[in-house]
Amino acid sequence: FQNILEVISAKEDELGKLDAVAGDGDHGIGMVRGLKAAHKTVQDANTMSPSQLISDAGASFSDAAGGSSGALVGILMITTGNKLQDDNMDTAHVAQALELGLTRMCKLGKSGPGQKTMIDTLDPFITSLKTFANKSLSDGWQAALPAAEDGMNATATMTSQKGRAAKLGERSKGHKDPGAVSMIYMLETVGEELKSA
Ligand code: ADP
Ligand code: MG
Repeated sequence: FQNILEVISAKEDELGKLDAVAGDGDHGIGMVRGLKAAHKTVQDANTMSPSQLISDAGASFSDAAGGSSGALVGILMITTGNKLQDDNMDTAHVAQALELGLTRMCKLGKSGPGQKTMIDTLDPFITSLKTFANKSLSDGWQAALPAAEDGMNATATMTSQKGRAAKLGERSKGHKDPGAVSMIYMLETVGEELKSA
């Protein structure tokens, strides 16, 4: 679990390529910058506590990434890390921590599902994860990924209502939201890491 961010860092290039799809094109660059800082924080950390590492990494991510997604993904990680308890990492508790993170994210972004953002990946993922509370965290996480992927794909048919892409209005249709795509990569990567944890 401690290595989640190292694995995410390996996705940097891939996230960078998502950049050109919509908005002002800085999403990939910002994510890479944020993930590098998060990765460094985890490497330099004096703690082995996963919850502490996640929130510390979130703070670094937020500072370094900048932009809307920096603040939004940052608050998700910080809130989730703060809520998590290292001795209670079962599926139900992790889903609960993520749900609080999502709530804070929505509050900060004044946003919700259906507005063509990363929330459209994250929200169905968490809803699905909660239904797999009887599974191990790793198995539950895998089981919830298809819901996240469906949500991410659905952003292609949505009209942007938040962030810079909202200015495109109807023209934003037909492209997936970059934040929704980077969110699925992060969730998938965490899933891979959980398998080997
Ligand atoms: P910026 O818009 O500041 O350039 P990025 O390009 O890094 O930020 O991130 C854009 C992504 O952030 C969008 O694709 C969307 O998923 C997400 N996003 C932007 N605004 C919001 C918001 N208010 N709520 C949720 N997600 C948002
Ligand atoms: Mg941008």
